[in-house]
Amino acid sequence: MSRNSLGNVCGAVVVSVAVITTSPAAAQAPPPAAPTSQTQIVLLGTGNPVPDPDRSGPATAVVVNGTPYLVDFGAGVVRRAKAAVVDKGIIALEPPNFRVVFVTHLHSDHTIGYADLILTPWTYGRRVPLEVYGPPGIKAMTEHLLEAYRADFEARSSEHAQGLYTVGSFAEGHGVNAHEIGAGVIYKDANVTVTAFPTKHALESYGYRFDTPDRSIVISGDTNPTQATIDACHGCDVLIHEVHTLGWLAKRPDFQAYAARYHTTTAQLAELASQAKPRLLILYHASIALRPAVNPRASSPGELLSEMATRYSGHVVVGRDLDVY
Ligand SMILES: [Zn+2]
Ligand SMILES: [Zn+2]
Repeated sequence: MSRNSLGNVCGAVVVSVAVITTSPAAAQAPPPAAPTSQTQIVLLGTGNPVPDPDRSGPATAVVVNGTPYLVDFGAGVVRRAKAAVVDKGIIALEPPNFRVVFVTHLHSDHTIGYADLILTPWTYGRRVPLEVYGPPGIKAMTEHLLEAYRADFEARSSEHAQGLYTVGSFAEGHGVNAHEIGAGVIYKDANVTVTAFPTKHALESYGYRFDTPDRSIVISGDTNPTQATIDACHGCDVLIHEVHTLGWLAKRPDFQAYAARYHTTTAQLAELASQAKPRLLILYHASIALRPAVNPRASSPGELLSEMATRYSGHVVVGRDLDVY
């Protein structure tokens, strides 16, 4: 669907640069420097529903030949993107550059940045509608969000009509075309072919495989281990997969039945990755905290890596916000 109207920027836009904790995980090598390849993966959010100031909500950018694509838009996504510009020099992630985005499922931790993604880039320059691909329900979510912000669109239009502002006024810039997808190839352009595969979660959900000129990347979203994930990777360059530790789960008996159906333990992921054989496995959406004060029951990155390393011999890293691979 598309929804357009004139609008305008409301005064100066102040963009915060997120503060990132850099305490290293035990036994984890520092992330490699930004590759010189055509394709870069930028982890914009590696957290989960926990309001963790060190880990934004799930959001992964794939940048190909200077064009950004995004999978999921958790809390903090736009500010993390700007942090990637300022702190990592990845200018492709200037927020108005986001045009094509994907969502794995409609849980709030993966979508709570949606309004931010629609409105903030528009207020400082996006001139074309956002193209959003996701499970059934994404159209309704989009329509409701646009309706929720109708007063903003109308106010900025009015301000523009009064000649108060001259930027951010492009009619199409806060429009959204929402595409409801199923399994298979769902998007293709000169940079990428994106294939959706079904995952197993508490509501309809998909993982995505990106094939670019130089890399193959699979992003799991939230899921129980599935054969479809193994098949989507089958020797891919990078598999980005959710995980929680056995240590954390032991402290959360209230969550065990749910986790057994809809999430993935380190032991399960080790088995999955042994079959999928990615060249690099990146852990995200993990039951960890970088600082114990954030969540005392969470595992440390070192504990997570240790649980994996004793079960899996491949190359594995704990993803952190603003890591570039
Ligand atoms: Zn989630
Ligand atoms: Zn979920």
